[in-house]
Amino acid sequence: MSLIVQKYGGTSVGDPDRIRNVARRVVETAAAGHQVVVCVSAMSGETNALVALADELGGERPDAREVDVLLATGEQKTIALLAMAIKRLGREARSFTGGQMGMRTDRDHTRARIQDIDTVALRAVLDGGGVAVIAGFQGVDADGNITTLGRGGSDTSAVAVACALQADVCEIYTDVDGVFTTDPNLVPAAHKLERVSYEEMLEMASLGAKVLQIRSVKFAMRYGVPIHVRSSFKPDEGTWVVREEEVMERLVVSGVTYNRNEAKVRIKGVKDQPGVAGRLFTPLSDAGIVVDMIVQNLSSDGSTDMTFTVPVAEHDRALDIANQVAGEIGAAGVESDEKIAKVSIVGLGMQDHAGVAARMFRVLADEGINIQLISTSEIKVSVVIEEKYTELAVRALHSAFVESGAQEPRAEA
Ligand code: ADP
Ligand code: ASP
Ligand code: MG
Repeated sequence: MSLIVQKYGGTSVGDPDRIRNVARRVVETAAAGHQVVVCVSAMSGETNALVALADELGGERPDAREVDVLLATGEQKTIALLAMAIKRLGREARSFTGGQMGMRTDRDHTRARIQDIDTVALRAVLDGGGVAVIAGFQGVDADGNITTLGRGGSDTSAVAVACALQADVCEIYTDVDGVFTTDPNLVPAAHKLERVSYEEMLEMASLGAKVLQIRSVKFAMRYGVPIHVRSSFKPDEGTWVVREEEVMERLVVSGVTYNRNEAKVRIKGVKDQPGVAGRLFTPLSDAGIVVDMIVQNLSSDGSTDMTFTVPVAEHDRALDIANQVAGEIGAAGVESDEKIAKVSIVGLGMQDHAGVAARMFRVLADEGINIQLISTSEIKVSVVIEEKYTELAVRALHSAFVESGAQEPRAEA
């Protein structure tokens, strides 16, 4: 007997028929002799609709505590409906909100982090032969306030529970067949990966492949719980996210990702002297703004340009801070651009091959795409480009590195 955690995303529970379909799959798994915890998202579109309501009534920055009380209702609906549908098929089931199942988080509303999971209540249901149906995306802080884990957070709820219960596998059921070489909704030639390492998946998730929330991959990696990403509409195997040693092929490029949700801020003519970067990035971090790429260019007259990227939602606040700091340190000016995209290639095999970045730059140059910023790590290369070229860049890179079958970079000319 295995303990299996299954997570169903918004599309998979998008209407009553789909909830019935999920109930059937859950009951089949339980009937095969497994203990099952099911974690569900809100019905598709529900969280977006709730966010829109909060924006309409709560002003520019709706109160974060109340936003969480509101957003958590989406998942509360689906746990109740799914538990009813499972019981109707003759299997015992019990729903749990984040608070009821002991999902303890910090107090950081709308992007809370899980601190601790009390599994006693879940174990009791499982030991009694029932199915535990848990709400994804939500928890409670030490004072009992409802919190949420950030968009896409149900993946993290499911994996964290799988880790806490030492489950044999965490199955992530979604609207695509697995993890693809790039977003299959953008590039039809994308193909499903059989296996991908935690490290690659971590990069892909943080660089824009929204199929798994990044924190879910971090949990799985830390506790060694395998993730199986698969379709909720088909019985076929999907993609296994596992340890590097269990990945057979070290592809040079296993994935091409894109992220249109960043903005670029540039402070021009900054004096090249110690302490300047600290003056800028301390107030940004104090404001809770997560800075992604940072690039500093030295000019011949001893001044530098400092460029960084932030989530587009934080653009206005970041720009205000940059303007203020620029005034204090006597910089020449500040400019920003929200129409950018970050496009990346990711692959374990990059570590063993030279020239991958150079080839990426040539592919983009051949399409006439200008590169604004570059950042690299052992297993990824990212570039920032003009947003309107996103699709073209992703297709060209996918074609050059994945479809060509040439996973060996060509010799440099
Ligand atoms: P769910 O509602 O099930 O959580 P999401 O919409 O959060 O589903 O994630 C699935 C979506 O992720 C897919 O529909 C697909 O468009 C997108 N996606 C982006 N990159 C990838 C990728 N490399 N592999 C698979 N899906 C991807
Ligand atoms: N319902 C939440 C969202 O749409 C959480 C999730 O689906 O993972 O972001
Ligand atoms: Mg998701």
